[in-house]
Amino acid sequence: SLHRSPAADAQGLGMTSQRARDRLVMRLREEGIRDLRVLDVIRKLPRHLFIDEALASRAYEDTALPIGHGQTISQPWIVARMTEALLEGGVPQRVLEVGTGSGYQAAVLAALVPQVFTVERIEELLRQARRRFRQMKIENIRSRHDDGALGWPAEAPFDAIILTAAGEVVPQELLAQLRPAGVLLAPVGPAGQQQLVRMRAGDDGTETEVLGPVSFVPLLGGLA
Ligand code: SAM
Repeated sequence: SLHRSPAADAQGLGMTSQRARDRLVMRLREEGIRDLRVLDVIRKLPRHLFIDEALASRAYEDTALPIGHGQTISQPWIVARMTEALLEGGVPQRVLEVGTGSGYQAAVLAALVPQVFTVERIEELLRQARRRFRQMKIENIRSRHDDGALGWPAEAPFDAIILTAAGEVVPQELLAQLRPAGVLLAPVGPAGQQQLVRMRAGDDGTETEVLGPVSFVPLLGGLA
């Protein structure tokens, strides 16, 4: 149509954000995302509100985008893939995310599980993410400014843990905060050679599955 809605123009999308999300979901399905619960959340959650307005026109491209401080909001495909992989063995009750960033992955999780805990080392990013959660009236996310490699010991154990930044190894502190039979998902490895791995805490040690190559910002130590 020649007539664009004011809302669409404000976002620079050239179509309504709903239409843009429908297209993104179609693309994610083509790229192998199968879990309808996950696709439904992505269809509804306004990703353009998790990034700077200047980039909003690109919010529904299947790409990572800068969010400042050298960090990125992850690519929708990887958010979908990790969320799908987390739900495969059943819906976890309490999920810990390391690397809040924009808050988008946490918000996706919050629509699917009862309680999300998320830790971010960059205070300004956490502040913005919290404001988004408040504005969207998302009430089942608790967040903390800390080095997420240490987990959140006071709230452990967790049914699932998801890392959105890549370390060379998975920190022992995090594995120790996983409930028996709990699932941990993480990008692991040096830049250019990262693999998404899923670890399951069992009676006789940890079982590790390699799910495929990915590309993430590094997991850093300490606070910023
Ligand atoms: N989940 C985020 C989203 O949906 O926007 C992805 C953000 S980005 C790919 C990874 C984030 O991890 C960055 O915001 C970065 O500051 C954070 N990070 C890196 N190392 C960390 C650490 N040790 N503890 C907590 N956060 C960390």
